[in-house]
Amino acid sequence: MGIEARYQRVADQVAHLAQAAGRDPREVRLLAVSKTVGLDGVRGALDAGAQDFGENRPDSILEKHQAFPQAKWHFIGNIQSRRIPDIVKSAALVHSLYQVSHAVKINETAERLGKVQDVLVEVNVSGEQSKSGVSPEELGALLQACEPLSHVRVRGCMTMAPRGDAAVARACFEDLASLQASVRKGMDAQRAAVFNELSMGMSEDWQEAVFAGATIVRIGRAIFDDAFDEVE
Ligand SMILES: *Cc1c(COP(=O)(O)O)cnc(C)c1O
Repeated sequence: MGIEARYQRVADQVAHLAQAAGRDPREVRLLAVSKTVGLDGVRGALDAGAQDFGENRPDSILEKHQAFPQAKWHFIGNIQSRRIPDIVKSAALVHSLYQVSHAVKINETAERLGKVQDVLVEVNVSGEQSKSGVSPEELGALLQACEPLSHVRVRGCMTMAPRGDAAVARACFEDLASLQASVRKGMDAQRAAVFNELSMGMSEDWQEAVFAGATIVRIGRAIFDDAFDEVE
């Protein structure tokens, strides 16, 4: 099975499961995480209909965005301050903001480039040491710090679940969904309408995320790694 067929299969599965979860399939965007493949791999997924791609390194998002500007490029990796210009040049959506200083620099860069940068706040819901992100308690303060930044628009939240246990992953995703819902309650209608994205779920746990309300699932290996052919 090649990348085109795997992308198509995953896209069908995501749409089916969204429906099974009582959701409109159009509410769940499939982000093809292409960080392990080159331009040929991206082309395969594009040919199968992929529109959104995720990268975790500034060099890669810069290169792939230049090669395929027709796609939407998402930055899902760790943000380093000095690489913010490359990220802002390339990214439709940055999933991994969790520091005020980065928000300030993204704002300055976006203003210079004449864009408003859409971002998600990464939340470390599980509290694992190895994961980055604000704690659930810190989310409000970061949102407040972003409020005056006219060239940063916070669109929602992102998280990564602990690996290996579907029930634990589901609980983590549900926690983020309810945290986001409670934050939205405190916003005016206009602000709440913009703060509506939930980026959660990867190759091994996206089903749990769709049931918990994900609007973006970030899937790499199930699309780009042929070891996943044998899973089903
Ligand atoms: C690599 C990566 C993914 C995709 O993971 P897979 O297990 O390959 O689906 C999703 N999100 C982030 C932040 C990643 O770094």
